[in-house]
Amino acid sequence: MAKQLQAIRGMNDLLPEQSPAWQYLEIRLRDLMAAYSYCEVRMPIVEPSPLFSRGIGAGTDIVEKEMYTFKDRNDESLSLRPEGTAGIVRAGIQHGLFYNQTQRLWTMGPMFRYERPQKGRYRQFHQFSVEAFGMAGPDIDAELILLTARLWKELGINKHVRLELNTLGTLEARTSYREALVIYLSQYENELDEDSKRRLSINPLRILDSKDERTQEIVADAPMMQDYLDQESAEHFQQLRDILDAAGIEYVVNPRLVRGLDYYSKTVFEWITDSLGAQGTVCGGGRYDALVEMLGGKATPAIGFAMGVERLVLMLETLELIPESVNKTVDVAVVTRGEGVSGKAMPMLEEIRNGLPELKMMVNCGGGFKGQMKRAFNSGADFALIIGEDELVARQVSIKPLTSDGEQVTMSIAEAVSFLKK
Ligand code: ATP
Ligand code: MG
Repeated sequence: MAKQLQAIRGMNDLLPEQSPAWQYLEIRLRDLMAAYSYCEVRMPIVEPSPLFSRGIGAGTDIVEKEMYTFKDRNDESLSLRPEGTAGIVRAGIQHGLFYNQTQRLWTMGPMFRYERPQKGRYRQFHQFSVEAFGMAGPDIDAELILLTARLWKELGINKHVRLELNTLGTLEARTSYREALVIYLSQYENELDEDSKRRLSINPLRILDSKDERTQEIVADAPMMQDYLDQESAEHFQQLRDILDAAGIEYVVNPRLVRGLDYYSKTVFEWITDSLGAQGTVCGGGRYDALVEMLGGKATPAIGFAMGVERLVLMLETLELIPESVNKTVDVAVVTRGEGVSGKAMPMLEEIRNGLPELKMMVNCGGGFKGQMKRAFNSGADFALIIGEDELVARQVSIKPLTSDGEQVTMSIAEAVSFLKK
């Protein structure tokens, strides 16, 4: 036998028993977006590499060590997208979506990062992301948070997630904070963990959320962003908090929340859960007012977030919140008796489908009567629809209940349609 091939480590197949849960979540997400008047966009999975080094930041983990980058046949450097925002901004600029108009956009699809695979962390994973352009005030920040809060409620996980908020100030405020932070941390350079040492010159803010114990002790006495905040950002943050308070959204302000990408300014937020172990962030986002201009467009205020779909599905499974009905793929199983009957019955079955477009009807194509009945039982169908040579000629079907008591009844096609309607 030929050697079997395997999927790439950290890249998963989505199999039949898992897809109903994904679809359940995807439908909720689509409906949510429609309710807030957001439009879907879909971007290529491959983009020119400089989009990410410029857009996400050369000193970030993603660009430094997580990207799948390769040369195409023309010797151009391309990368599999590690996140969605840079691509949406590129597309918006390219197609003039940001000129004198606001945009509310969402997208969903695979992202790629070369990370160590573990529960909730994969090399191909899926993000649902939402981005709003052209709105500078805190009301749109609040809208994004409110719509995620609504989603948690609909999914039944609102008691299992908490919201953390912070503000990073304008880029200028961050620059002066960054300088103060580097001066402070440099005194302890030798005691920092290896990653933090490296970040000291390229991305010192990330040191704030280092998991290393000694680094955390050092960071505890570091200068605080709040003390460097510009007045505009401070007011923006307060107004956002006022809206969230009035809407009854609970949150904690976490001054150490910085997020892993360079492009954020002002509001940043994360929704965190304790139900998934170490991979606790299900959704993260923030304002990125400078990004559009950085990538060659005209200055456009913007804010967005990304949600990890695998982590959400894992949460729904762990907490057993996926409704039973989602997994039902067969309502009626068609069982035939006699050679070639299943094919000959198909025109009749199409008539039933015409009358009942929502009905999930599975036809056993092939196999003996007993085997087909067994498959019908195992499929979870409520009824077996039995057709033999006689029924074929009489244009009738026999319906046998599989999950309830009751006699097998033979009836016409029209009768079958009204019977199955119930
Ligand atoms: P983490 O701190 O867990 O590495 P991150 O800050 O790198 O997350 P973002 O870049 O903000 O994550 O991506 C948004 C969301 O996408 C995360 O909150 C998470 O739910 C999901 N996510 C990120 N990386 C992965 C991954 N490798 N596998 C699965 N989901 C991921
Ligand atoms: Mg990460």
